[in-house]
Amino acid sequence: MTAKVETTLRSPQAYGLARKVIDAMEAAGVWPTPLNFELWTHALGEPESVLAVEIQRMTAAGQPFTEAVTDGLAAEHLPRGRLTEQIRDAGRVLDRELSSVSSVIAEAHRSQAAYGQTLDQAATNIEAAADGDGLQTIVSGLTTATRQAQHETESLEKKLEVSTQEVVRLRQHLEMVRRDAMTDALTDLANRKAFDEHLAAACKHAETEGGALTLAVLDIDFFKRFNDTWGHQTGDQVLRYVASVLGRTAANPRFAARYGGEEFAIVFPYESVAMVEAALENVRTEIASRSLRRRSTNDELGAVTVSAGFAVRRRGETASAFLERADAALYASKRGGRNRVSCAERLPKAA
Ligand code: C2E
Repeated sequence: MTAKVETTLRSPQAYGLARKVIDAMEAAGVWPTPLNFELWTHALGEPESVLAVEIQRMTAAGQPFTEAVTDGLAAEHLPRGRLTEQIRDAGRVLDRELSSVSSVIAEAHRSQAAYGQTLDQAATNIEAAADGDGLQTIVSGLTTATRQAQHETESLEKKLEVSTQEVVRLRQHLEMVRRDAMTDALTDLANRKAFDEHLAAACKHAETEGGALTLAVLDIDFFKRFNDTWGHQTGDQVLRYVASVLGRTAANPRFAARYGGEEFAIVFPYESVAMVEAALENVRTEIASRSLRRRSTNDELGAVTVSAGFAVRRRGETASAFLERADAALYASKRGGRNRVSCAERLPKAA
């Protein structure tokens, strides 16, 4: 759901969809609050989705869209809502496991203390014991207390093991949620949030440790025109294709992300200008050399091209200033006729 609607919202169909959403909301008597707008945009952008069917059903039944209803729909159907819900669930499980671990620890303390008291008492009794029978009673009491302590320890160990397994499962789940939150659903590349974090960390690292850091920004040429001509589903495939080429190029420690609608970025640590330029030229020529086909009709789509710009980080430069210079190089490529790679360091000073 996300990917399709997100792509539509960055295509020429976006305004048409927005108008349709407003009309539909007005007709249904729903206030155009940001959350309602988001819900209805998803519903109308993807009319076969569960959310759309639910909204149609509620509208037909004349059910009011109160704030509580809207919140419920958002939590269940909007990707962000689902994520929040998952994080909340994980928090609840973690809470439960932590309290279970603390009660196991408290129980262990109690059981140890009780055993200690039994031992103390036995020591006193041994000193006072007058005969063999008295000693036998004490030893038998100690044997029972030791067995009970053993039994309690085993049961506590089992409880701790269950809790440990649950915490491991939870960590894996949280890791998955974190990965989802950082991944662009359509292309499987890192998303804007992951990119922002990665770039900030890479700049910090370059500042403290030294070493080159280069940032490239790439944009698909005439993507909007392409979307207009062939529809956004084909547009999605083009995004996936470009992303697949970038993904192959940007193996670790390089880092590729879908930065915006049809805009991508690659971070290159520890590479010379010549190496970065060669990598970007390879990407550019590989993308331009393939003739794509529209899957539904087998129409020849021709080749797509990308423009790229890159900049080498200057000492003390912030992530946003760095990005701005890479962007300026990208726009130099666009102005220069597209399907080319430009380097910020070689732009005329006025640019
Ligand atoms: P996808 O459709 O999920 O395809 C994934 C990979 O499977 C492709 O990676 C390619 O290695 C292989 N594959 C799929 N269909 C074919 C095919 O008909 N012939 C051959 N030789 N291999 C095929 P690749 O090439 O990196 O493409 C990544 C994504 O880019 C594709 O994901 C698709 O979404 C898009 N794409 C690539 N080429 C075209 C195309 O000609 N037309 C359309 N509509 N989409 C394309």
